Amino acid sequence: MEDLFLTEDERLIRSTVRDLADRALAPRAPDYDEAGEFPWDNVRDMADLGLFGLTIDEEYGGSGGTARQLAITIEEIARGCAATSVIYLAHLSLCAQYIQAFGTKGQKRRFIPQLANARRIGAFALTEPGAGSDSAAISTTAARKDGHYVLNGAKLFTTNGAEADTFVVLATQDATLRSRGVLTLIVERDSEGFTINPQHGKMGVRASSTAELVFQDCPVPVENRLGSEGEGFRQTMQMLNGSRIGIAAQCVGIAQAAYEASLSYAKQRQTFGKQIAEHQAVQWMVADMATEVDAARLLVLRAATLMDRGEPFATEASKAKLFASQAANRAANSAVQIHGGVGYFAPTPSERLYRDARVTEIYEGSSEVQRLIIARAVLGL
Ligand SMILES: Cc1cc2nc3c(=O)[nH]c(=O)nc-3n(C[C@H](O)[C@H](O)[C@H](O)COP(=O)(O)OP(=O)(O)OC[C@H]3O[C@@H](n4cnc5c(N)ncnc54)[C@H](O)[C@@H]3O)c2cc1C
Repeated sequence: MEDLFLTEDERLIRSTVRDLADRALAPRAPDYDEAGEFPWDNVRDMADLGLFGLTIDEEYGGSGGTARQLAITIEEIARGCAATSVIYLAHLSLCAQYIQAFGTKGQKRRFIPQLANARRIGAFALTEPGAGSDSAAISTTAARKDGHYVLNGAKLFTTNGAEADTFVVLATQDATLRSRGVLTLIVERDSEGFTINPQHGKMGVRASSTAELVFQDCPVPVENRLGSEGEGFRQTMQMLNGSRIGIAAQCVGIAQAAYEASLSYAKQRQTFGKQIAEHQAVQWMVADMATEVDAARLLVLRAATLMDRGEPFATEASKAKLFASQAANRAANSAVQIHGGVGYFAPTPSERLYRDARVTEIYEGSSEVQRLIIARAVLGL
């Protein structure tokens, strides 16, 4: 279906990443999931293909790719291993691209090349115990003192936290100003007063790491500030609009994997003397999955195309994220149903995909937050 809308270059990227996903990411996914272990060999294989620099300017070691190319890449990675796609997204879309978008030349030269080849891992820290959907409520403080900002506070649920060297961190200079008091800093792993506490027990995307970050009188040089004081919130909303397309693409990959596993099982499993694919109830589930995967992919391509053209795309990104995350959850649910009892057990892909899909309706703006954004746009509020 999507070939109709892809350029030659995009098809080449898709087939290259699909090959890696089939050959390496998907076969490794069950063991990494069970162990809850960070998939370093996936990261290395992806770095060898240059994927961590995909949307990074050539000047800083990347290949200057488009939002559409990134969406296609994320879909294929997620189809093989959803956890690896979260690692990739946090690293590239939320950390490296943030520095690329708002960093000075000096900051870019210093931090981006090592992120573009994954010699350093990146993370993004906005969420706090008291600030998730209401992200302007952050209370981690950055007090300016002698050429430094002194950070105090805690961040929660930071993807790649345990492995990252470079953290993009949001903090406030005056919490009473809410969004207008926020700034963004690059914090390095070995900073004084910076502690990383891994968080365990995730339902899905278990091979990705998640961590609490604690700052106790942590000095960050003023030259590590990204953009101006008071601009951190606006910058972050801009970045999240783009990375939501990435999450939507991740959802398409999860839904596609659930669909493919269902097709193959439905043709193989026999009940009442015939393939279950011949039962109408199963056919309807497969038909809904096929339709919703196509629809989600088209919404992703539309949002990414607008972004590449420099046109407004925030509402389209929210629509893509809302629909694709729901489609991924429905597809994974149907995949478990089609697999019957077997589908409830690891290591069937359906069992893992069902758990992996769940978080996509929560992170990078929950489904409720996406509906708020869409409703405000369509109602002109
Ligand atoms: C695996 C994982 C990885 C993550 N990675 C990162 C990361 O790398 N960096 C980072 O900064 N954060 C990360 N997060 C945090 C994530 O973005 C937040 O969990 C998410 O934004 C929701 O915030 P919350 O958990 O505080 O929920 P809350 O904001 O407390 O929301 C609870 C519920 O209330 C609903 N709700 C809240 N406000 C409204 C409203 N106004 N109208 C209607 N409903 C509403 C929500 O939709 C949700 O259903 C991650 C989370 C997870 C689970």
